[in-house]
Amino acid sequence: MKNVSTHYAVEAKDIIKEYQMGDSVTRILKGVSLQIAQGEFVSIMGPSGSGKSTLLYILGGLDNPTHGSVLMNGIDISKFSDNKKSVMRRRNIGFVFQFYNLIPNLNVEENIMLPLLLDGKYMKDYQKQLAQIVDIVGLSNRRKHTPRELSGGQQQRVAIARALINNPEILFADEPTGNLDSKIGTEIMDLLREINQETNRTIIMVTHSQEAAQSSSRTITVRDGVIL
Ligand code: ADP
Repeated sequence: MKNVSTHYAVEAKDIIKEYQMGDSVTRILKGVSLQIAQGEFVSIMGPSGSGKSTLLYILGGLDNPTHGSVLMNGIDISKFSDNKKSVMRRRNIGFVFQFYNLIPNLNVEENIMLPLLLDGKYMKDYQKQLAQIVDIVGLSNRRKHTPRELSGGQQQRVAIARALINNPEILFADEPTGNLDSKIGTEIMDLLREINQETNRTIIMVTHSQEAAQSSSRTITVRDGVIL
């Protein structure tokens, strides 16, 4: 009989994260285990300082746990070298941040293409993909604008497009609506939900907003470094 493997998109096993501050060690994550299936849209909620962003960055390979491991599609990324991890992030993962993190002097298309350009790819080979993604995020009439010529909501759309240009399996978002008013925040959440439902892409999002969390299919609550 064929052995059917059931890997999670992301699995955390007993994650502990500590920071050394002078002589004392502070434990931020105190043994977090979780499983997120492919295609899920998960919100991570909890009070400020509870360790949500730390957990998100560890799940996405942007930060290392002190102990424990993170598996992506069954592969333990905590054992990867920094170089292998950054290649993995550029090719398999998209990140969206609260403050967009766009490059001010690059236009919309160039910002979106950045992960591929950094990976040694050429803009001319991705025109069709780029046009599709610009259309999905609703910026077809803003392609040559620079970030300062765009509203906050439009800048976040550029950041989402940049996160999608690699066709990543997983999208990580840290407070994606945290800097936006509620109407624009709702539009961004509608876009993320559409991306989740139409492409069955896994989304893992940290949010303070109950309203934003309602767009997701499951909420994980973190308090004082543990999952409730
Ligand atoms: P949340 O996202 O839930 O607001 P964070 O994960 O950002 O929480 O932070 C959790 C705790 O870890 C906070 O008390 C924060 O000060 C601390 N912390 C985060 N990063 C560092 C760091 N690089 N060095 C020391 N402490 C940190």
